[in-house]
Amino acid sequence: MSQTLGHFPAGLEETSERLEIVEAVRTLCARFDDEYWRKKEREHAFPHEFHAAIAEGGWLGITMPTEYGGAGLGVTEAALLMQTVANSAGAISACSSFHINLFGPHPVVVYGTEEQKQRIIPPLVEGRDKVAFGVTEPDAGLDTASISTRAVREGDKYIVNGRKVWTTTAQQATKLLLLARTTPIEKCQKRTDGMSLFYTDFNRDRIEVREIDKLGRNAVNSNAIFIEDLVVDESDRIGEEGKGFRMLLDSLNPERILIGAECIGVGRRALAQASRYANERIVFNRPIGQNQSIQHPLAQSWMALEAADLMVWKAASLYDAGKPCGAQANAAKFLAADAGFDACDRAVRTHGGFGYSKEYNVERYLREIMLPRIAPVSREMIMCYIAERVLGLPKSY
Ligand SMILES: Cc1cc2nc3c(=O)[nH]c(=O)nc-3n(C[C@H](O)[C@H](O)[C@H](O)COP(=O)(O)OP(=O)(O)OC[C@H]3O[C@@H](n4cnc5c(N)ncnc54)[C@H](O)[C@@H]3O)c2cc1C
Repeated sequence: MSQTLGHFPAGLEETSERLEIVEAVRTLCARFDDEYWRKKEREHAFPHEFHAAIAEGGWLGITMPTEYGGAGLGVTEAALLMQTVANSAGAISACSSFHINLFGPHPVVVYGTEEQKQRIIPPLVEGRDKVAFGVTEPDAGLDTASISTRAVREGDKYIVNGRKVWTTTAQQATKLLLLARTTPIEKCQKRTDGMSLFYTDFNRDRIEVREIDKLGRNAVNSNAIFIEDLVVDESDRIGEEGKGFRMLLDSLNPERILIGAECIGVGRRALAQASRYANERIVFNRPIGQNQSIQHPLAQSWMALEAADLMVWKAASLYDAGKPCGAQANAAKFLAADAGFDACDRAVRTHGGFGYSKEYNVERYLREIMLPRIAPVSREMIMCYIAERVLGLPKSY
């Protein structure tokens, strides 16, 4: 049982390197127990100690090229790292504190100049820089082409004005990966043209940050940011002007795969805890786990998590082999988010009233696992993608 409730995933080929990743990450995460994360959550305090331990372990650069200090491993290994972290007491909060490091700098690796790679990647890998991801805007939502943050060129500089919302870790970030319009939409042939990607200093004289009060994952802040006359040097633009949206698309599949892996990790933790509790809790003179109404939902969740996990590793292996994986990466994120959510919901209900108490932690997992069904892309958008791209149905929006 223990193997499928939090050890090496059954659907992934075992190699000594992968086993070492799981072992090392489990050992690291064990230093940060439920009480640590409850306190961080309660105090809305960033888990600096955990982040430093992840950096020290060399995990921030797992997918980054070795010539810039990374480990040069694939999305499969990165997903294994994230699943192992999510399976620990830190759950989604722990993952979100450094998750962007694993896929965020991807456009820099693929489209950056040699000078940019040398300048940008090593400090990220070492944890000296923390980056926030500035894409979503209040008036655009999932329709990224409608963003209104503008970067207006003046000589070899850009002047940026606009606002972003839901910017994760903007309280700590030293850098901002920013998508801004460089050509007004009405002058573009395609709506997705005319946006550019910048990797720039998080200049707090020009960027105001306001934390958003939210349901869960409170150790990792989410923010509204207001950008006023931010000067960005041309040398901080990644790739060609106007092609930023396409560059961003490259990192979306890895992001979906990692999130899928995280959802499975949390779901398995909640399920293991629910099973333990169901064995121990005696009501009507027998363990509650003897009742089929308790057993069956948990058994169903085990199957759903296993099935979704297979899709995660399928998508990861396709990505690492350089093959198209859009359908699988989206499906993995969708299935894993639903399976993880159901597992956490059932874990709370298995605990009865105690599930509602913070002491048992399952309510924290449930609040956190609601997020991957909404962000970074919603369930609806994934269904639209599968309908259109896989089934050949007309675009619906
Ligand atoms: C905690 C948190 C952290 C985040 N971190 C970041 C971050 O670091 N950086 C960043 O850039 N963004 C971040 N986001 C933003 C996240 O990516 C967006 O919230 C997400 O993309 C959804 O956008 P929206 O909230 O504006 O929803 P909307 O676009 O307003 O959509 C609302 C609802 O309508 C549905 N909908 C909209 N259009 C259609 C359609 N055509 N067909 C069917 N359904 C539709 C959606 O599926 C959704 O259910 C974060 C969000 C959260 C909650």
